[in-house]
Amino acid sequence: MQEKVNSNTATAVPVQGARREPNPYDPAGGQVQSALLITGRRTLTAAADRNDLRAFIDGLPKAELHMHIEGSLEPEMMFALAERNGVKLGFSSVEETRAAYDFGCLQEFLDLFFQGMEVLCHEQDFYDLTWAYFKRAAADNVRHAELFFDPQGHTCRGVAFETVLQGIQRACADAERELGITCGLIMCFWRHLSEQDAQAVLEAAEPYRDGIVGIGLDAAEQGNPPHKFASVYRQAREQGYKLLAHAGEEGPADYVREAIDILGVDRIDHGNATLDDAQLTQRIARKGTVLTVCPMSNVKLAVVDEMRHHPLKVMLDRGLAVTINSDDPAYFGGYVNDNYAAVAHALELTTEELHCIARNSFTGAFLDDKAKARHLDALDAYVAAYR
Ligand SMILES: [Zn+2]
Repeated sequence: MQEKVNSNTATAVPVQGARREPNPYDPAGGQVQSALLITGRRTLTAAADRNDLRAFIDGLPKAELHMHIEGSLEPEMMFALAERNGVKLGFSSVEETRAAYDFGCLQEFLDLFFQGMEVLCHEQDFYDLTWAYFKRAAADNVRHAELFFDPQGHTCRGVAFETVLQGIQRACADAERELGITCGLIMCFWRHLSEQDAQAVLEAAEPYRDGIVGIGLDAAEQGNPPHKFASVYRQAREQGYKLLAHAGEEGPADYVREAIDILGVDRIDHGNATLDDAQLTQRIARKGTVLTVCPMSNVKLAVVDEMRHHPLKVMLDRGLAVTINSDDPAYFGGYVNDNYAAVAHALELTTEELHCIARNSFTGAFLDDKAKARHLDALDAYVAAYR
């Protein structure tokens, strides 16, 4: 239960411009009367505060650090690209496709995700996909994005590494010029494939080294522990890549430990299972390793049974540097601000906590100190003005 600070200064008027999209985690449509929202010197209550919270989140400058670009392929674009490229889909309509996004586990999602990316064939397809993401990110006031892409999902279909990268990079350049959003690219290895396959990706990327900031590890976690990729990560480190790995999403805390101790990662993607090991939690908290948490993904893939049981607040309380991210937003029902709002409502997060999470998104980004300071100053000024 949160302490009420000063209800006299509560704002009763919904903020103009607050988006009121349907939120599956807010079935009462913002009419929950019991929730209190502490915003620094004031406490907000009741329905109007839901609008206020969403407006606060919408305006919050933030970085997104865990977003698979192929996972932003909305069904509408999937159908348009399928028609453009003569690819036959397993679904007859956008509605039927969306209805199929009812996953019991990570593997059920991956089966559909792999099918979806088959419509991505040409450089323009990758450009269109990435540009569509940036337009949504701009609406969510994302100031910096670090995007994952899965080279093996394309090269295995005969699409050249260069085709994928150039389409994404062209959209990144346009996003910086037209939207003021900076971008870093992270290529992921599919962990259900062999380390030799990952090695081939690392070699294919050599001519494009300057355009890729880091490497990651994604796809089926269970049974594919981080240590399987120890050698390729060692080589990537020698080549100056930043190192990331999905760990502790469906896998155990041991996988998080391996990602840190064996792979030497700079960030952990997900990391929910860290909490199962108190000693590991303390160590990661002390080290300040950033965790890229994805609340709606966790519920959609049954990693967490419902949003109000999401471990994000416990992670925060134990000193872990968590961030909020959308993972595969087209498949999981929401982009980054939807994720902020869903978890903030369900766990009754305060604006101080949301401020802290947004700060982590910049401090954990692969940006130079000057850029981080500029983003943090803008973020702190926004929160100060909001109070
Ligand atoms: Zn992910």
